[in-house]
Amino acid sequence: KVNVTNLKKNYGANHVLKGIDFKVANNEVVVLIGPSGSGKSTLLRCLNKLEEPTSGSIVIDGQDISLSSTNIDKARENIGMVFQHFNLFNNMTVGENIMLAPIELGKSSKDEAKKQAKDLLETVGLSEKFDAMPSSLSGGQKQRVAIARALAMNPDVMLFDEPTSALDPEMVGDVLEVMKDLAKKGMTMVVVTHEMGFAKEVADRVVFMADGRVMEEGKPDQVFDHPQNERTKAFLDKVI
Ligand code: ATP
Ligand code: MG
Repeated sequence: KVNVTNLKKNYGANHVLKGIDFKVANNEVVVLIGPSGSGKSTLLRCLNKLEEPTSGSIVIDGQDISLSSTNIDKARENIGMVFQHFNLFNNMTVGENIMLAPIELGKSSKDEAKKQAKDLLETVGLSEKFDAMPSSLSGGQKQRVAIARALAMNPDVMLFDEPTSALDPEMVGDVLEVMKDLAKKGMTMVVVTHEMGFAKEVADRVVFMADGRVMEEGKPDQVFDHPQNERTKAFLDKVI
């Protein structure tokens, strides 16, 4: 489903991604871990074309999104992204936030979009918040709206960049629960997170990055309980 080959990304002299090979199969949940500055966010942003790769190829659903001939707006519609800071539109209601993209991009009529937004809010446990303003929500509720908004485009792949890092501890569980449900339903997901419990329980595969390279990957119990790489061991000693 996602096939990244020898991906490199430089910011000037700063070589942030140094030749990443990274695959995600259909329905697979991949958790991406690694120290600060290792390039996790940059990799996700390249997958969504928020960043232009310096070289290498990124094929998603058979489409090479690094080619200039690829319609990037179309490609991006199929990839939902959820950030640490939810980036909701604060001047719109929750419902309007979720309905915006499908209507603007002509994917749904207003009635369809409304029905879908209500269904999605129910999925994330916020059915009573359709008419609420984002400012009246808790951080965890905002993040669940952000997930619903990303899902409104019916993406094939969902990317999460530290979705719970900005939340108060008591909000984290609700958001992880929504993500777990999504995984159970077969959503293809790439998740950058420090929630090792989530990784152990939900990930099909854990990928450890350091210094712009994939250092180690494997099933969660393999990587967490029997790490092979010294960098992985050192990192896990610090975070677990
Ligand atoms: P964290 O865990 O702190 O989020 P990360 O693994 O997500 O870290 P990135 O955000 O991908 O790391 O950053 C990797 C490197 O790229 C860092 O050295 C950072 O300074 C650099 N970098 C990221 N974005 C830019 C940018 N827009 N311009 C210049 N340098 C950047
Ligand atoms: Mg990051």
